[in-house]
Amino acid sequence: MSSSLSPNANDEENVRRNRILSSKLYFEVPSSMVPVIYSSLYDISFLGIEKLHPFDSKKWGRVCQFLIAAGVLRKDQIIEPLEAKKNDLLVVHPESYLNSLKNSSNVARIIEVPPVALFPHCVVKEKVQRPFRNQVGGSILAGKVAKERGWAINVGGGFHHCSAEQGGGFCVYADISLCIHYAFVQLNISRVMIIDLDAHQGNGHETDFAHDRRVYILDMFNPGIYPFDYEARRCIDQKVEVVSGTTTSEYLKKLDEALEVAATSYDPELIVYNAGTDILDGDPLGLLKISAEGIAKRDEKVFRFARARNIPIVMLTSGGYMKSSAKVIADSIKNLSTQRLIDTESSPDRM
Ligand SMILES: [Zn+2]
Repeated sequence: MSSSLSPNANDEENVRRNRILSSKLYFEVPSSMVPVIYSSLYDISFLGIEKLHPFDSKKWGRVCQFLIAAGVLRKDQIIEPLEAKKNDLLVVHPESYLNSLKNSSNVARIIEVPPVALFPHCVVKEKVQRPFRNQVGGSILAGKVAKERGWAINVGGGFHHCSAEQGGGFCVYADISLCIHYAFVQLNISRVMIIDLDAHQGNGHETDFAHDRRVYILDMFNPGIYPFDYEARRCIDQKVEVVSGTTTSEYLKKLDEALEVAATSYDPELIVYNAGTDILDGDPLGLLKISAEGIAKRDEKVFRFARARNIPIVMLTSGGYMKSSAKVIADSIKNLSTQRLIDTESSPDRM
């Protein structure tokens, strides 16, 4: 209740509100576009340095290439978001945090690519932070598009280890928290469910929405891997642990049970689905054994859950940076389309 907030908290809330209302990140999207959000500015290519980190730093663009090649959508139907600017990021991040990103060593630590520390800030800002800021713009816009169209997929984003005050685990900006705060103010939404099925615990949004009754968090994660954030773990409404080596059938059974509990526990107006693919069998970080078909089945279950209840759903692709990840994501989106859980065709009346 705002009436119970201290004058300072009320001031802060007003500043946040004004920042959101003056933001350019929400813009009108023509109905001829498919609710798939991506910009070529998402992809990272950095003097060959992308090869030093064990991931595919062009995953996001490759997902779209696969979708276009498979005939799921056309290039000109993809929604291109705007880059999140300082004023947008300040909606959740304190200025001191954004200032700390002017130090290349800090960015290098957050994205776990030590050589980045050797480059001047202007280079790191352009080559590393800018792609992430574009993805953040996509996650924020996805909330609006999902409200209008029932669903939206940001082909990037899902930086669930970053909270307002702290980045980590490859996550520089708290796009999930930002997406939700924009929805609170601009979409008049007051109940959001985060379904976080990345292999890792989503300690960023958990920290940001700790004790905030407007957000229900279902997090299914491997407790034996990063980030071991036990304090944030206490803020999860429904915690489902999947230990290293969990197989596809065990995983999907746990997901069914978890969604059943979620359905009776909370009545959201928006779902933010963090759909990391690092649960894939062979992923060096996730340590789970879920097949590619299992991931498509997982996404199908979550979309079925949302669509059957008419709850707008935002999907973010989050972790999973093996060479095979892009194809797995694209195949899953294609399956959602085949199952008619998403409509990727522009109908004549929308042209
Ligand atoms: Zn992860």
